[in-house]
Amino acid sequence: MTQARLMDGTAVARRIVEEAAQRAADLTARTGVTPCLATVLVGEDPASVTYVRMKQNRSRKAGIASRHVALPAATTTAELVGRLRELSADPAVHGILLQHPVGEHIDERAAFEAIAPEKDVDGVTFASFATMSFGLPGFVSCTPGGMLRLLDAYDVDPAGKRAVVVGRSAILGKPAGMLLLARDATVTYCHSRTRDLSAVVREADIVVAAVGRPRLIGGRDLKPGAVVLDAGYNEGNVGDVDFDTAVEQASLITPVPGGVGPMTIAVLLEQTVTAATRQLGA
Ligand code: NAP
Repeated sequence: MTQARLMDGTAVARRIVEEAAQRAADLTARTGVTPCLATVLVGEDPASVTYVRMKQNRSRKAGIASRHVALPAATTTAELVGRLRELSADPAVHGILLQHPVGEHIDERAAFEAIAPEKDVDGVTFASFATMSFGLPGFVSCTPGGMLRLLDAYDVDPAGKRAVVVGRSAILGKPAGMLLLARDATVTYCHSRTRDLSAVVREADIVVAAVGRPRLIGGRDLKPGAVVLDAGYNEGNVGDVDFDTAVEQASLITPVPGGVGPMTIAVLLEQTVTAATRQLGA
């Protein structure tokens, strides 16, 4: 058995960011307005602080301005909703990213829904889920959107293929399945109550791992030649897929890190430039 080819998310993401940066520069030259991404962070969770900082740095490098709103951990749902509504109404802000999780005491859904759909560049609102599901123009959830871009970059057409998505979270598994369905894959969702996960995964031509359990899916669970997208990011840079055994069975596989991860920010930046372009009517 030959080893799988790696899907190089770092390289594909770099191309997407370069293109977004070019579009941002063109937009600024034409309109005098720099696309602006507002990042909102509640509390000081170290991982979230790092993610937000990374998104701001990458934005800057791509010619996208960022405005940061840091709120104390004790912020209430009403206060957070109020800030998000202000940003939604502010014409100088084109995209809004609410870093999540936001804390147990906050109604995360209410907060997401305070983001205007035309500024929902992270693809977290009901409106974005609907457009994603119907294959209509709108903003996609960034990580699932990034996974589809990886498939495109490696000429994997989901149409007619059996796709199994392991995980059904609102920001990852569910939208990943919907995007695959919109591209005519036959989609099965698995989750913590799925019986005989291995047998279901073994039917898949495309496997999406979006669980958060280190090495849950191994080579023994894969159909030979399967395409494997591993969104999992667990302690010690370990994915949800056991790379060493999966690479022997798959035809294409994402490494962790350097696979799905870099695609998330790339799609966020691309969607911010698109949001600014639409709002400026340019
Ligand atoms: P989550 O909200 O905890 O959802 C995990 C999902 O996995 C749930 O649907 C859960 O089922 C399912 N699950 C749990 N144990 C399972 C098992 N043993 N068998 C089958 N399904 C199982 O997590 P998430 O936010 O979607 O994140 C998942 C992973 O992706 C994490 O490692 C996270 O770090 C990573 N991630 C990466 C990126 C990126 O940019 N690369 C972005 C976001 C997340 P139930 O619904 O039944 O509970």
